[in-house]
Amino acid sequence: MYCRFCGKEVEENMNFCPYCGRDRRTPPDGYAANAASAYSPAPAQPLKPLNGVGLAGMIMAIIGWGVAFIPIIGLVYCFATLIVSAIGVSRFSRCRCSGFSIAGLLLGLADLIPASIMLCVILAH
Ligand SMILES: [Zn+2]
Repeated sequence: MYCRFCGKEVEENMNFCPYCGRDRRTPPDGYAANAASAYSPAPAQPLKPLNGVGLAGMIMAIIGWGVAFIPIIGLVYCFATLIVSAIGVSRFSRCRCSGFSIAGLLLGLADLIPASIMLCVILAH
């Protein structure tokens, strides 16, 4: 058996070459080690197909257009929508379909407008 790094003859059962000191169990340079580091520097996590929290945030925001007109409850609901959407946005890099979370955040912010107006109306009376 020959060391594939330095070419000297080494015993079959030796993990480390006594001449060059390299680990004989590792694949040769330019093969698997390089390929792995070149294509995926960090171990890539498999992407989730759907950002469920983001979708929930968007649905909450759409329903929020109706709920926002209920004084106080509408405002609380809007903040809940924004929190759920924000969690969805934080998962953006881990899920394929994450556009919902951005839509939920924007719609949730828009819901705050009628919710705030309703609160002002109540407080004015
Ligand atoms: Zn060697």
